[in-house]
Amino acid sequence: MTKKIAVLPGDGIGPEIVAEAIKVLNVLKKDGLDIDFEYGLIGGAAYDETGTPFPDETLALSKSADAILLGAVGGYKWESLDISVRPEKGLLAIRSALNLFANLRPAILYPQLADASTLKPEVVAGLDLMIVRELTGGIYFGQPRGIRTLENGEKEGFNTLVYRESEVQRIGKVAFDIAQKRQGRLCSVDKANVLESTELWRETMIELAKDYGDVELSHMYVDNAAMQLVRAPKQFDVMVTTNMFGDILSDCASMLTGSIGMLPSASLDESGKGMYEPIHGSAPDIAGKNIANPLATILSVAMMLRYTLNEAKMADRIELAVGKVLDKGLRTADIYSDGMTKIGTSEMGDAVVAAL
Ligand code: NAD
Repeated sequence: MTKKIAVLPGDGIGPEIVAEAIKVLNVLKKDGLDIDFEYGLIGGAAYDETGTPFPDETLALSKSADAILLGAVGGYKWESLDISVRPEKGLLAIRSALNLFANLRPAILYPQLADASTLKPEVVAGLDLMIVRELTGGIYFGQPRGIRTLENGEKEGFNTLVYRESEVQRIGKVAFDIAQKRQGRLCSVDKANVLESTELWRETMIELAKDYGDVELSHMYVDNAAMQLVRAPKQFDVMVTTNMFGDILSDCASMLTGSIGMLPSASLDESGKGMYEPIHGSAPDIAGKNIANPLATILSVAMMLRYTLNEAKMADRIELAVGKVLDKGLRTADIYSDGMTKIGTSEMGDAVVAAL
C-alpha cells in the first residue's frame, strides 16, 4: 500500500533543504519505493498564513501520514510574537500531539570530515553512535512543578523527576531493537546511585534484557557518560537515557562531529511512526542563499526508510551515496576545508542523486 509522507518544510533554510531531500526520495520512488507526498504548513510559515504555528490541517495531515519529514522552524521575523504562537511552539505541539516519545539522535562522523571536529581526528574518525532519548516524560513533564513562596518569604523552585515502569519499558524496547540492528551493544545511562526514579530505570532495563539475549547491556552513571563521550566516544554503540540526561548528552555527542549540517534525527511513537528532521534549526542567517548543507535532511530520509518504512537497503544506499559525494571532495560551506570543492545546497542534492 502506498505510504503517505507529510512534508513540512517550515521556515528559513527549511524549504531549501527539504527540496533536496525530496529529490532523493523521487529517485527511490522511480526505483519502486511506494510513497506519496503531501505538503503542510508549520512554524512561522503557518503563523503567517493561518495565525497559528500548528494549524488543525497540519495536525490532521500528520496524524494520517505514515511518516513526517520536517525542515526547521523559526526566524527573526517571529521573535517578538507572544510565546504561545511562536514557530517553535509548533514543533513542541506536533511532538506531543503525536506522542513521539523516542528521540533517536545518531552522531556519525564520516571519516572524510574528521578534521571538522574540535576533538583529535583519531578520537572521533569513524564515530557511529546512536543516542536514544526518552522525549515525553521525566523531569521536563513531571508534576508537581513550579515556583512557590515559603513561609519565611523565600522563593523555591521545584520539579519532579518521575518515570513509570511502562514508560521505561517502551523506550527500552526501542533502544534494544535498535542495538539488535547495529553492533548489539546498549549502554543505559542513569544516576541510580542517587535517584530512585533511575534506580527503577536500571532495574527495568535489566528485566528487559532477558528478552534480548543477543544484546549486551551495560550501565553507566551520567557524569561518567559525559566524560567518556569526550574521552573515548567510539566505545559506545547505542546509549539509552532519560529526557534530561539525553538532552544534554545528545548535544555533547553531536558536537563530536563538529558539523551541525550533517546530523539527522528521528522521533518515534509506539507504532514506529516517526517524524524525521535535521538536528539544526532554520539558520535564518543563511536562508535563501543556496549555501545551507542539505545532508542532515537527506540523512533524515535514510532514517525514515530504516525506522518507519522498513527499507533498510534504500537507507544504506543514501548513506553510501553521501559517503561517495564526500569522497569526491564536494563540500557545502559549513564543512569546507582547503583543497575541497565548494558547492551550494542544490548542487549537493544533485551530487547525492548522481551518486545514488
Ligand atoms: P541553527 O541551528 O538554525 O543555526 C546555528 C548555526 O549553524 C548558524 O550559524 C547557521 O547558519 C548554522 N547552520 C545550521 N544549519 C545549517 C546547515 N544545514 N548548513 C549550514 N549551516 C547551518 O540555530 P539558531 O541560530 O540557534 O536558531 C535559528 C532559529 O532556528 C531559531 O528561531 C530557533 O528557535 C530555531 N530552531 C529550530 C529548530 C528546529 O526546527 N528543530 C532547532 C533549533 C533551533
